[in-house]
Amino acid sequence: MILVTNGEGYPGADTTARLLSEGHPGLDAIEAGIRLVEADERVRTVGRGGWANILGEVELDAAVMDGTSLRTGAVGAVMGFLHPVSIARAVMERLPHEFLVGRGAEMFAREIGAETAENVLPHAREAWQAWFEQAVRGTAREHWPESGLIEHVRAQVQADRPAGTTVFIARDQRGKIASGTSTSGWQWKHPGRLGDTPIIGAGSYADTRYGASACTGVGEMAIRCGTARSVVLYMKKGASVHDAVAEAVEDMRAMRGGLIGRITIHAIDNRDRHRVVAVNGDGRNDYFLWRDGESRATRERCEPIPL
Ligand code: ASP
Repeated sequence: MILVTNGEGYPGADTTARLLSEGHPGLDAIEAGIRLVEADERVRTVGRGGWANILGEVELDAAVMDGTSLRTGAVGAVMGFLHPVSIARAVMERLPHEFLVGRGAEMFAREIGAETAENVLPHAREAWQAWFEQAVRGTAREHWPESGLIEHVRAQVQADRPAGTTVFIARDQRGKIASGTSTSGWQWKHPGRLGDTPIIGAGSYADTRYGASACTGVGEMAIRCGTARSVVLYMKKGASVHDAVAEAVEDMRAMRGGLIGRITIHAIDNRDRHRVVAVNGDGRNDYFLWRDGESRATRERCEPIPL
């Protein structure tokens, strides 16, 4: 058994590890851990308390994947619900679909009785208000948001606004591999912007036969390279987890233009080996690791790799 979760996973890491050690299915353990991260207001990049988009709203994204059935469930740009990861799981279990976004995802969430929440907390509202007062003036403010979002969104990216996600990948007692992710995405992103987090194959992928991978950071990069799926596919083709991640980093070197920044790639294989690298990282990125027989998840440092 193994669990890898990123730094933001701290409110849920030990719960997931305990559930795995008690023999619970990996997906149940992952969902329980992510729910704790989503509800924890200290985590400013996931669930309730996450950063707002450019309109001052908190839009949430999440995904799960069962690496044994290869079923997935994902939701994007969902507002007003506490646990997007559980809505994603319900998409997988209750619909003949894999991915719902926006209004349709919210209709589905209401139908299944998903818990609602006011996700825009005072710190996010005040930060957005302060930005708005200073950045949008005169007639632009009178006509907001029709006065235009593009230049504002571009400026936020240049300012390197905060972002973050939580990702959990695990192999359970029966050897089954699963993944889960959840995020509020980039602060002051364009409304409707999806990063890699809800996109299966980009921000996460799990296959019990080979392993799992999940990314945090500039999701646009993982979308362009299909990173999580690539890592698992490289393992299928015989690469070690170490080499599979190295190959996915190599793929990123071919990108030209667009948004290029920091991205962390997490991966496990079907023999409980793992690899986590912080592409363009500054040496401060960390993650949590738990393996069979250990009492708690321990905090580890990612290896920084320049692009
Ligand atoms: N990957 C997330 C996204 O692109 C953000 C992050 O992990 O920093 O929305």
